[in-house]
Amino acid sequence: MTPTTTWSRRKLDRFWNRWSLWLVLLLLLVGMLAMLVWLAGRYEANEVQNRLERDTADVVNDIRGGLARNVQSLQALQVHAPTQAVWKERATAFLADHRELLRLEWRDPDLRTLAFVESPFQPPAFSVLGRDNAQADVALACATAKRFKSTAYSGSYFLLQRDNLGMEVLDLCIPLVENASAHDYVVATYSLPEILSGLVSRQLTRNQEISFTEADGTRLTLRGMAHRNNSKVFTARQLLDLPGNTLVVRMDSWRNAPGLFPNLLTALVVLMSLALISVTLLLARDTRRRLRAERGLAEALAFRKAMEDSLLTGLRARDLRGRITYVNPAFCQMVGFNPTELRGHSQPPYWPPELAQEYQRRHDIRHAGGGPPREGYHSVFMRKDGSRFPVLVIEAALINAQGAQTGWMSTVVDVTEQRRIEELSRASQERLQATARLATMGEMASMLSHELNQPLAAISSYATGSLNLLKSGDHAEADLTMAMGRIAEQAERAGRVIQSIHDFVRRRAEARVAAAPQSLLDAIMPLMQLQARKLQVQLVTDLDPALPPVLCDHTMVEQVLLNLARNAMQAMDQPDISARRLVLRVVPAGPPLRAAHAVGWLEFSVADGGPGIPDAVAERLFTPFFTTKQEGMGLGLSLCRTVVEQHGGFLDFYANQPQGTVFRFTLPVAQTA
Ligand code: ADP
Repeated sequence: MTPTTTWSRRKLDRFWNRWSLWLVLLLLLVGMLAMLVWLAGRYEANEVQNRLERDTADVVNDIRGGLARNVQSLQALQVHAPTQAVWKERATAFLADHRELLRLEWRDPDLRTLAFVESPFQPPAFSVLGRDNAQADVALACATAKRFKSTAYSGSYFLLQRDNLGMEVLDLCIPLVENASAHDYVVATYSLPEILSGLVSRQLTRNQEISFTEADGTRLTLRGMAHRNNSKVFTARQLLDLPGNTLVVRMDSWRNAPGLFPNLLTALVVLMSLALISVTLLLARDTRRRLRAERGLAEALAFRKAMEDSLLTGLRARDLRGRITYVNPAFCQMVGFNPTELRGHSQPPYWPPELAQEYQRRHDIRHAGGGPPREGYHSVFMRKDGSRFPVLVIEAALINAQGAQTGWMSTVVDVTEQRRIEELSRASQERLQATARLATMGEMASMLSHELNQPLAAISSYATGSLNLLKSGDHAEADLTMAMGRIAEQAERAGRVIQSIHDFVRRRAEARVAAAPQSLLDAIMPLMQLQARKLQVQLVTDLDPALPPVLCDHTMVEQVLLNLARNAMQAMDQPDISARRLVLRVVPAGPPLRAAHAVGWLEFSVADGGPGIPDAVAERLFTPFFTTKQEGMGLGLSLCRTVVEQHGGFLDFYANQPQGTVFRFTLPVAQTA
């Protein structure tokens, strides 16, 4: 079997499983409907037939009654032995009332006609054939009548009329008994068609056809409506038993039966069946929709369950009285209890006994309307083994589909790990701070050693100079005093350096003061001159005395200027003395440097005529401990930049023209209040 046929077979099986019951139901319904329609048709046909039978019996009764009454009336014609004239008169009057009679005759015992009267409604009955033609029938009837001393009817015969028309007639012979011997007769000729129209109630012939037939079925006469096409004929026969003759009365009725909707009953049955089928179909559709919805619901449920089961966060639902109604697997795993141990408890087993009272109070507050904090709250739960662990609980009101609160829904997160990490980070933070303190100390030590170099060198130079003066003997007291003064000044300066570096490293609020640029240069000038003389450098200062003061830590800025100037002079240690020129300049800062600041700035620059800075050196210039000098520490520029940036300023350098380097930095102008 190929896979395709297996597949289609499976599809067919599934189709059959799904639809077979519906198919059977539908077949049963259709079968029932057909049977009901058929039964209703049959019922109606029976009804029609029965009615017809009844009508036929009525017709027969009507005719029989009419004939019997006529017999009595005809006998009454002979009352008091009338003369022929009187008889005729009576007979004429009688005929005028009875259309069914064509002719009345008074005959003697030998059947000779004594008198006769013709119906006024018809042409003379025997004008075409003559009365004698029917004599045999009359004789037979009268013989019978005579024999039974009662009325008798002849057999019916066809009476030809003018225009080749004719009718079936019947003679009635009434023997008139006198002295029990001689018999006169009254012979009455009945027209069968007129019997049907005269004696039968009009109502019975309205919708049906009545006819006289002979015993063999030959139709003698007919009355009623014409034959209708496409309709079924219902026939009923009844014998009209007359003395001497037996006629068959036949009634035919044409009905549209049994049509598809023969009558109201059938129509109702059909309608109800159709309604039943419609309801069944609707039911099937409804069932199908219901199934689809159920499937969707089951899928949604399965998805929700899978989601809840795979959640790492604990979920817990409580009703308004605080009893647990739902817990997810993550929650159970967290506390170590299974759902049945938790559900229904208002004092759950994961509450540590020592905290149960507080938790109960918390719940009471919640119950009294105090909503939980949106950001959640921290709590401690107890595992089944008795160990405690911290949790973060985020609680929200549980609102049902009608919008009413039915309880509380909580998400519970085990924060043990989080706490551990927090603890670790706190410890490492502490360690970091200790390390930072150590590093600060190191930084301080290196800065001190760097910055103290200059005052110590200066002190040493002045001391050496003083000693030389003392040794030579021709010392001027003023020179010595000046040298001593300078030594004291530098020692004091060294003290200040230590203090300000200490402050700087500890990041204390620096003592910022408004300092005139000139004063900053003046403060370092003696030291610079000392060095310049030694290195044969020409010192030039260029600044406008009207420049505004800058807001700065005086000593630190002095150190920056000293560092830059010393670097510049050291860089100019070269044969060409004309190039050994150091320019210290202060100008208001141009747009590129002050762009980011709203306040005014001054730009300090130190320009030398040295060899300039190669690119490889420039890249690492501000890296701490980078130096190209044998006795250098490589800290000067990095410290300078730190100090300037501390003041909110900016330090950079560019190539000097025609040679050398210009270092510049900015300081904020002191705001005059
Ligand atoms: P140090 O002076 O102790 O070497 P610095 O940080 O002050 O440390 O200087 C780092 C390096 O930058 C110096 O070793 C030098 O090579 C270079 N340098 C600094 N200023 C200049 C300058 N004006 N001209 C050329 N090179 C310079």
